[in-house]
Parts: sequence; C-alpha cells; structure tokens
Amino acid sequence: MTAAARTDPRTARRERVCILGSTGSVGTSTLDVLSRHPERFEVFALSAHSRVDELFEQCARWQPRFAVLPEAAQARVLSDRLKAHGLATEVLAGAQALCEMAAHEEVDAVMAAIVGAAGLAPCLAAAHAGKRLLLANKEALVVGGALFMNAVRTGGATLLPIDSEHSAIFQCLPLDRAGWPAHIDHVLLTSSGGPFRRRDPATMSTITPDEACAHPNFAMGRKISVDSATMMNKALEVIEARWLFDLTPEQIQVVIHPQQIVHSMVVCRDNSVLAQLGTPDMRVPIAYGLSFPERIESGASRLDFTALSALTFEAPDFARYPGLALAWEALRGPEGCATVLNAANEVAVAAFLAGTIRFDGIHSVVAHTIDAVLPEPESPGSIGALLELDARARQRAALFVKGLSA
Ligand code: NDP
Ligand code: MG
Repeated sequence: MTAAARTDPRTARRERVCILGSTGSVGTSTLDVLSRHPERFEVFALSAHSRVDELFEQCARWQPRFAVLPEAAQARVLSDRLKAHGLATEVLAGAQALCEMAAHEEVDAVMAAIVGAAGLAPCLAAAHAGKRLLLANKEALVVGGALFMNAVRTGGATLLPIDSEHSAIFQCLPLDRAGWPAHIDHVLLTSSGGPFRRRDPATMSTITPDEACAHPNFAMGRKISVDSATMMNKALEVIEARWLFDLTPEQIQVVIHPQQIVHSMVVCRDNSVLAQLGTPDMRVPIAYGLSFPERIESGASRLDFTALSALTFEAPDFARYPGLALAWEALRGPEGCATVLNAANEVAVAAFLAGTIRFDGIHSVVAHTIDAVLPEPESPGSIGALLELDARARQRAALFVKGLSA
C-alpha cells in the first residue's frame, strides 16, 4: 500500500489522529513522530488529565479540532485561554468525551496512551468503531481481556501494539494473522530488569520513588517506571501478549536483557528465532503503528553494532521480582484475575509514589488483594461487571495500603 493510497480517495485528506494521553511520555513521542510527517497526518484530538499548561501548548502548536480534560471547570479555563489566543480548538470535559473522540467518525487512528484502567472505555469505543487502534495503554487490555479482543473483532478495528516488546513480536510475525499459530512455538519477552537488578535485596525497603523512577534506558511516566522496577510491567506484558497474539500462558517466557537492544523474540516451530532490534526509543514502535504496514522515519537513532560492547541475557530472578510470577497465575486463574491484579497494582503504585507505603509493600498489597478478592471463580462478561470487579479490588487494595501505612 502506498502513502497516497492511505489517504481518503474522496477527499485526498491526511490521516486524522486522536491521541488519548497526549501530555505523557508516549503522547509526546507520538507528536514528535507526527511532526516529521505533516503531509501524511493531522492531529484531530488531544487529551490530558492534570498537565493543562502542556495541553495548551500542544493545542497552540497542533491546532486540533478537539481537546479533552477531565473536569468542566478546567475545560472552561483552557477554552477561554485558547480563545484569547485566537485558537479554535473546542475543549470537552469528562470520560465520555474521551470515548466520543476515540469513536469519532472523522478519526482514522487512535493512539491509546492513557495510563491505567482509566483508558479502557475509550479503547473499547475505538475498537467498536473499527478504528486503527495503537495500543500503548497495556492496562486496558489486561483489564479488558477477552471483552477487549471481542470488541476489536466485532468492530473490525485494527489493533496495533505500541509496547516495544509486543511491537517487536508483531514485526517478527507474518502480516496475515491467520498464519500466526502455525508460526509461533513461543515468544520471549525481553526486560531490562529495571534499576534494581543488582540491588542488595536487604535494602529493597528503602527504595525511594525517585530511585524507582530512574529507569536505566528510558524516560517514562512514573507509574510504568515503578512497574519496571518491580517487573510488574513485565507481568502486565505477559498478559498483554496472551491477548494480542492468542497465546497460552506456557507460550510466553521472559528473559532479562539489560541493554534493551533486542526488543523481543519469536521462537518458531522449527526453532528458528526471530528478533527485532533497535535502539531503545518508543518512536520506532509508534512510527510503525502509525504507518503499518509501511515504514516511515521515526527520529530514532540507528543501531551501531560496532559500538555495542555486548548483548547479554539471563533468566529472571523470581525471588527478586515476586510480582512477575503473578502474570501466569492470573492467566491460569479464574477470569477476572488479571483485572484484580491490575487494580491492586495501580493502587499500590500510587501509594508508593505518594510515600504512603514502602517499595516492597507494593507486592504485598497486590498479592493480598488477589487472595482476598478472588476466592471464588468470577466471570465478568460485561464492561459493567469488569468495572465493578476493578472497583472492588481497588477498595480492598486501599484497605491493605491503610494497614501497611498505619
Ligand atoms: P504518562 O504518565 O507519561 O502519561 C499518561 C497520560 O495519560 C498523560 O497524558 C496523563 O495526563 C493521562 N492520564 C493520566 N491519568 C489519566 C486518567 N485517569 N484519565 C485520563 N487521562 C489520564 O505515562 P506513559 O506515557 O509513560 O504511559 C502511557 C501508557 O503507555 C501506559 O499504559 C504505559 O504502561 C504504556 N507504555 C509506556 C511506555 C513508555 O515508554 N512511556 C512504553 C510502553 C508502554 P496528564 O499528564 O495531563 O496528567
Ligand atoms: Mg514494554
């Protein structure tokens, strides 16, 4: 497919992109990629949660048709400020507005870059509306699971992974999904091991939020940075891989690769191993998601093999990262386990970042919540049931947080 063929033949217009979570790390990287291709893409809608000044700057630069903020009062302030600068962006408020933007008939591609389960509803809206859905927001798929994938199928959406590991696997697979099962024996998700790969386990309790957010290779949002430090990020990615590639839990393995040059691998049925390599830069998977199946300039620097000292791989230490094993337990457990796991982790990470619990308290909150909330098999078959389970898990996790902080 050529670039020309990607434009709407009736209007020959550029592709319209909605970025949910445009003020975050993935959101700003997406805008960076778009800035390199003004002839091909235009920004239709942007959204923020707390960083209103950044959203104003983005609106001034990109002049989107819409911008979304959570509260009506915030939206009015931004709207007045935009008008005072002669800018016509319409500012909407609330979670429903995110869904409306994601499903808007004029939108071609939706970048889902909100952090946490808060991104689930707009992802489902984009899926139902048959959009090209660029999924960075892994929590949405972890929480939504089968329901999410059904929405993609029935809505006729194109789901493209943005998480670098899943983009790597996607890039190693045949373009036609139907060929995947015959191709894949298992996948190897790589992980940097985070900043505490060599830290003395006896000092884990003294880790500060700033230490946990100092990721060795990437500057990311604070929640995913903490998840990388606990390796709960990899646990979420194991669950994400299960849904994206329709794998069994046994078909997903994790390997520590501190240099983050190999972004993940597919071990084929004949034991041939396919890997995707590159410098660690989110603009590569973002650019691929935007241009798939073509390739466009991403802004990432090229890998210089002669400058690489070594590529190393080691098995993960499950004692150091106790949260990692929960991924397989959740996948083998009753439906809804992953929803509870994610909710508890969101609460625990927020409490750690707020200074309420210690770093090693994150795992105990998650593990206790899973035990407490899912004693019986659950079967959340609807979004309402999923959100109810999510809320119940958050309440229980908050109680455990209270117990740890008392
Ligand atoms: P950030 O925290 O940097 O950005 C999150 C974005 O979501 C911001 O725009 C934020 O708004 C908005 N947001 C936060 N809470 C809400 C809410 N309750 N409702 C609506 N919007 C909200 O996160 P990242 O960009 O790092 O990560 C985004 C997603 O992508 C996560 O799911 C993460 O796991 C995934 N991901 C990130 C990678 C990375 O390199 N950063 C790599 C792979 C995946 P505001 O800033 O205005 O508060
Ligand atoms: Mg990742």
